[in-house]
Amino acid sequence: MTELLYLTDCYLKEFEATVVVAEGDRVTLDRTAFYPGGGGQPADRGTLLWESGEAQVVKVKKQGDLVWHKLDAEPPPVGTPIRGVLDWEHRYQLMRTHTALHILCGVIWRDYGALVTGGNMKPLAARMDFELEHMSADFAQEVEEKINAEVAAARPVKICILPREEAFQIPDLIRTKINLLPEGIQEVRVVEIEGLDMQADGGTHVANTSEVGTIHVVGHESKGRINKRLRIALER
Ligand SMILES: [Zn+2]
Repeated sequence: MTELLYLTDCYLKEFEATVVVAEGDRVTLDRTAFYPGGGGQPADRGTLLWESGEAQVVKVKKQGDLVWHKLDAEPPPVGTPIRGVLDWEHRYQLMRTHTALHILCGVIWRDYGALVTGGNMKPLAARMDFELEHMSADFAQEVEEKINAEVAAARPVKICILPREEAFQIPDLIRTKINLLPEGIQEVRVVEIEGLDMQADGGTHVANTSEVGTIHVVGHESKGRINKRLRIALER
């Protein structure tokens, strides 16, 4: 089982670990800070270094309890101590973008009562779909003002890990489809933007909404009668 270091420390850029399995061009480690992708957030990239070599991590994937790191060179043998280094610019942009989506869905729920139906992101750009009947340029403009007010409010973003039973008592979590969590999962990681949004979530986020920076609503479109899309972009 790979210990997922990013769950408790999203700002970990480098870490020490040991190779547990080496198979073809990929390895698993006893612990990793590499995010394996999921929930609309792309996987991390970076480098593994060891005494006699180094390799780029070109792909990261979670399979069961293991995180696989696909390398661009022959992997070190089992038991090798390694240092992992994230491509921090890429990851930090994703943390800001991911947090911007939480701000967006928090505002849309609070002010318009609409649920999220889907979303996706890449560094500094993202889209999110909502159960909304109406969409217009004026609405997009109004939303842009509201989400930037939440950035300016510098709200803390907190992570906590709760027992399943406790998490299921939180009304805010019910709306974010916590009930879809597999039965076997006994602990729920909860990401909260203080006073705005709360979600069961395995991704990486910044610690304060002020780190997101200015958000631009760059597009709006209809994807169906009660399904409308907003596109956002962040500043570098
Ligand atoms: Zn999230």
